[in-house]
Amino acid sequence: MNPVYTKLGTTIFEATSARARATGAINLGQGFPDGRGPEDVLAEAARALVEESNQYPPMAGTPALRQAVADHYRVHQGLDFAVEEVIVTSGATEALACAIFALVSPGDEVVLFQPLYDAYLPLVERAGGVAKLVPLEPPHWRITADALAAVASERTRLILVNTPLNPAGTLLTQEERALLADFCISHDAIAICDEVWEHVVFDGAEHRSLIAELGMRERTVKIGSAGKIFSLTGWKVGWMCAAPRLAAVLAKAHQFMTFTTPPNLQAGAAYGLRKDRAYFTDMRAGYQRSRDRLAAGLTGLGYTVLPCAATYFLNIDLAASGVAMGDVAFAEWLIEEAGVATIPVSAFYAEAPVTNVVRLCFAKQDATLDAALERMMRRP
Ligand code: PMP
Repeated sequence: MNPVYTKLGTTIFEATSARARATGAINLGQGFPDGRGPEDVLAEAARALVEESNQYPPMAGTPALRQAVADHYRVHQGLDFAVEEVIVTSGATEALACAIFALVSPGDEVVLFQPLYDAYLPLVERAGGVAKLVPLEPPHWRITADALAAVASERTRLILVNTPLNPAGTLLTQEERALLADFCISHDAIAICDEVWEHVVFDGAEHRSLIAELGMRERTVKIGSAGKIFSLTGWKVGWMCAAPRLAAVLAKAHQFMTFTTPPNLQAGAAYGLRKDRAYFTDMRAGYQRSRDRLAAGLTGLGYTVLPCAATYFLNIDLAASGVAMGDVAFAEWLIEEAGVATIPVSAFYAEAPVTNVVRLCFAKQDATLDAALERMMRRP
């Protein structure tokens, strides 16, 4: 058995959701919305399931979805992808695995930023890569030139960046994008950009991809997910966009990972990506309202809430809130004693964790948020 997997536990998201189901806790742990998602997108996927082919679609994705992704990024982010530069995957998770397996060779050093999405490190290790971890600190979680310099070496081959950042809820600043671009160019490194939260941004902010920085077009893999764009996290339809030199090798990893993705879900995603701007603005406004509702409630209960510019997640700073418990103990207390499931942010660190921050998902109906807040009137 491979030690990368034998030493791993079940992901905290799965474990927390299972516990919430078993105990009846309100689940603000795992990041999924409790709405149905856009009815027209669902209807298109249902129509395609019944009326169109359910045999293997083309390996790199249906032409309709590949074109829709390229068109979508032209309209929404001013990016220019040819259809051949878009490869459809079964969720961003598969895209991450393909990109890491295709681009990392044994002994290559891969720069990762902590807090990190929990799939990254096992995938890098399984590929034989050596992770170089850059710690980010609350409340602003910023990347600095010094922190990058500390992990750089002549074996640096790749950086893996998540923006907007789950769980921090931050977006890369222009300075950080310039810093990362300089770093990649000077080390001749490739950037894998996990941008699944690109549309879930608030307060009029705009997501910008590292691929748009000077010199990065040929050395960046941009990863997206229909699950996050359409609040349909179970769909597992994603994609990776990259210049032909990279796309060719990414496609080879994908052909032996899943080979294809259900064609009706690709049809639904293709339809959805062509929706007018109002859908995206309304979606953001809805989540922003939920963010503000939970933030106001938590503040009212005496918790210090960290700034949140994006994603479905709000973080509480325990130390600043006067809670003399670490994040794991607090999350444990909250689920057992108050009946609310959350995620301790130390779970997003492989070493030297930040231990005073707890993540709550606000992508829930008002009644769910209000019920959680009522339960949280009990404090440890
Ligand atoms: N990357 C990040 C940062 C995520 O938050 C998630 C989902 N929580 C994923 C990747 C996985 O996306 P998908 O469900 O499309 O595989």
